[in-house]
Amino acid sequence: MLREVFGYGSFRPGQEAVIADVLAGRDALVVMPTGGGKSICYQVPALVLSEGLTLVVSPLLALMKDQVDGLRAMGVAAAAINSTQETEAQRAVLAACAEGRVRLLYVAPERFQSGSFMAALRAIRIARLAVDEAHCISQWGHDFRPSYRDLGAVRERLGSPPTVALTATADPLVRQDIVERLRLREPAIHVAGFDRPNLRFETARAGSLGEKAEAVADELAPLRGASAIVYCATRKRTEDLARELQRRGIRCAAYHAGLPDSDRRRIQDAFARDAVRIIVATNAFGMGIDKPDVRLVIHHDLPDSIESYYQEAGRAGRDGDPARCLLLFSARDRQLREYFIEMAHPSAERVIEIYRALVAAEGRRVHVRDLMKEEDEPGFNAAVQALLESGLAVKQGWTLAATRPDGEGAIDTAMLEAHRAHSFRKLDAMEAYATSRTCLRARLLAYFGEAPPAACGNCGPCLAGSRGAAAEERPAAEEALFQELRGIRRAYAEAEGVPPYIVASDAVLREMARRKPRNRAEMLAVPGMGRVKFERYGEGFLAATRAAAQAARPAPAGRSPRPAMRDAAAFAPTVRETLSLYEDGLRDVGEMAKARSLAPATIVSHLAELLAAGAIPSLEGLVEPGKVELVRAAAGGGPIGSLKPLKERLGDVVSYDELHLIRAWLSRG
Ligand code: ADP
Ligand code: MG
Repeated sequence: MLREVFGYGSFRPGQEAVIADVLAGRDALVVMPTGGGKSICYQVPALVLSEGLTLVVSPLLALMKDQVDGLRAMGVAAAAINSTQETEAQRAVLAACAEGRVRLLYVAPERFQSGSFMAALRAIRIARLAVDEAHCISQWGHDFRPSYRDLGAVRERLGSPPTVALTATADPLVRQDIVERLRLREPAIHVAGFDRPNLRFETARAGSLGEKAEAVADELAPLRGASAIVYCATRKRTEDLARELQRRGIRCAAYHAGLPDSDRRRIQDAFARDAVRIIVATNAFGMGIDKPDVRLVIHHDLPDSIESYYQEAGRAGRDGDPARCLLLFSARDRQLREYFIEMAHPSAERVIEIYRALVAAEGRRVHVRDLMKEEDEPGFNAAVQALLESGLAVKQGWTLAATRPDGEGAIDTAMLEAHRAHSFRKLDAMEAYATSRTCLRARLLAYFGEAPPAACGNCGPCLAGSRGAAAEERPAAEEALFQELRGIRRAYAEAEGVPPYIVASDAVLREMARRKPRNRAEMLAVPGMGRVKFERYGEGFLAATRAAAQAARPAPAGRSPRPAMRDAAAFAPTVRETLSLYEDGLRDVGEMAKARSLAPATIVSHLAELLAAGAIPSLEGLVEPGKVELVRAAAGGGPIGSLKPLKERLGDVVSYDELHLIRAWLSRG
């Protein structure tokens, strides 16, 4: 399944062991870092065990959409249900699930609060449950979500299906919380894959904000079109830094939770589509970001914990190619973090003090202004929240009142102090990392409970002695082909309205550029190129790699450079079927698609393969006469690589489908 559907040749560390447990129906907790490949752990079993549905709980719409789009691009029957859908659409998805037509159903946890949704689920056989980003269930986690809190009860109402919980958070308290709250039975615990050998970890001291901006700009300038994220501790810092970088001519966008939803969506989208390469963000730029080809993540400020740091830094280099994670650190960063801790975790003393002030008012309401020690007192809101939650106070507008005079004993001081102390311990560990002079990788892995690798050789301290271990140079021709493949990918992505990496990751394109496959079999051997992906996109990429292979290896003398017309048997069965439709006289792509229950884009790729191989002798009926000449002229008579520039030049006159067909026909030799 891994090879056929996902196109990967081998499992990543830990995946196989988790999958064995899931297949055996055992509950499991999977702790694997961001980018480690958690999704495969439940996706492969969902396809292997064709009986019943795998229900996946996922906290963010963007994340869900990404996963479902990605799975569908590989030909997997995946669907999602969320609050943005019309009731009708939801009903259709649920009906498809009930009929057994869906293998993986992604849902937002809020959905379980709907009675009708729960009722509908009862008609569906839920064979397995996967809880992604499972740390959201724990108040000790950095991303607690109330909607996750009741998942344990939900799970029981679904008949306690075997459950796999997945997270990148290694904190022992959080792990324990996940197991308890989800009520997992004797779960297998897997901690794996925290080492990311392709990530280079570095730290640098930078005193003032000006120095930091300078350092960031120096790092970003030589990126040449690669994607990067710069994390800042506050919204204001993202905006200031983005402005400063723009002033220096670096194109970037600021992103934080204070922006309108529409702006946030637009920026995320632009980043996914490579329209904006550099994002300066708070940690709000988070979970939904699965872009695999981020080459650099800079932390402009000290994060609150190693978990947060590793999660954010881990967004670099998901594709396995070399990437860097740089943490800037100034002594003043610590103060900012302490302030945040004060804000989030009031001391027990302060909570008691506020309660006493309310009691002293003898039932009269007190304005918050008269309770605060200073304007915007850090932690005041959190302290009030603690009183409201324990039922000792009520709030009305800007006023507060005690509900009873004798409740001091009900304030859970131990819990408040524990949370505070916990946060400070995490900050200490983070600071120790930032100032470490010994191997950063060893520190990280020790923190997560994994043994350090025998040799690191790829972090600041380990490299300090051996500077100048220059990145390997790629041959220029290979780089040119890679860029061409990216152009083709962009064209497919735009035609289908998905982010480029859904079509193929940079790692896949790099491998293609290196191997230069000349035919279907060679293309399928490229890691990441599964069968369905090949059907959809393979032909477009092949046109480019085949040409490059020919240029690299001149044809031996005495042989015609024109490829011999291929025998129909040389095509995949599905392509042969499209050919027989063509031979039956069908020419309309839409009709062919309907007849074969395939996407029009797939039919186009079949036709392109057939045209390129000479099995379809002409474009007659497929493309209006005259357009070929138009395209040939627009391409300047040369070979056609990327379709995008042509499309831009020709506008709506020629569609992407037509361009694909014309390119294939022109490339036939
Ligand atoms: P996580 O959820 O742990 O952050 P993902 O499941 O999103 O990670 O996977 C990260 C990337 O790794 C994806 O692009 C995925 O396709 C890829 N990947 C997962 N498993 C493998 C594998 N066995 N071989 C190669 N790539 C893999
Ligand atoms: Mg994930």
